[in-house]
Amino acid sequence: MSTLFISDLHLDPAHPDITTQALEFLDTKARDADALYILGDLFEAWVGDDDPEPEKRRVIEALRRLSDDGLACFFMHGNRDFLVGEGFATASGCTLLEDPTVIELYGSRVLLMHGDTLCTDDHEYQAFRAMVRNPAWQQGMLARPLSERLALARQLRETSAASMAGKSMDIMDVNQGAVETVMREHGIYTLLHGHTHRPAVHHFEIDGHAATRIVLGDWYTQGSVLSWDAEGFVLGTLPR
Ligand code: MN
Repeated sequence: MSTLFISDLHLDPAHPDITTQALEFLDTKARDADALYILGDLFEAWVGDDDPEPEKRRVIEALRRLSDDGLACFFMHGNRDFLVGEGFATASGCTLLEDPTVIELYGSRVLLMHGDTLCTDDHEYQAFRAMVRNPAWQQGMLARPLSERLALARQLRETSAASMAGKSMDIMDVNQGAVETVMREHGIYTLLHGHTHRPAVHHFEIDGHAATRIVLGDWYTQGSVLSWDAEGFVLGTLPR
């Protein structure tokens, strides 16, 4: 048995092939796991738990089938689906996780994050994040009619795409100092995150501790899944 981790599926009605693969994953491979962790950006956009969009409902129902069958499912917010709330948690059976969260995994302590807070060189993004993670801003947003929220989400995505196009790859990657700070703060030297879409396993040293940073990949062209069991972890891909 193993624990599975995914992130950055960016499920979007415009790319139904990704949703098809995600649903297949949830109905097959995930069934055999001990637990499933979704580390953010499951959805390309999330404007509130009341969005009736059918693809989102299918994903929620697939998660519900897993949790009803006894699989522990966890969800951490990403920078796209930060408005996922208790309505989603109740409907899907997922437990919402704080970012960061520490878990114990087959005898190892592991720090889980989405990864966006580590991109400290991107000041423009961090200012945006501070705004949209503010509870008052979120309450104001969720109080608007669904149609307005959908229009605003479209606008935000266009602004974000234009802004990303003007930024270097370095600015949008994690800052190594921020990585080391969060590991030191928690006294945990294994970090698992997504967000950057740069799947890799990085080994380095912090204050004499062997440190590992594992980065999940996105699902744009294939699935990225980290499988962890008593023997260790494997960062793998599911062909599409
Ligand atoms: Mn992200």
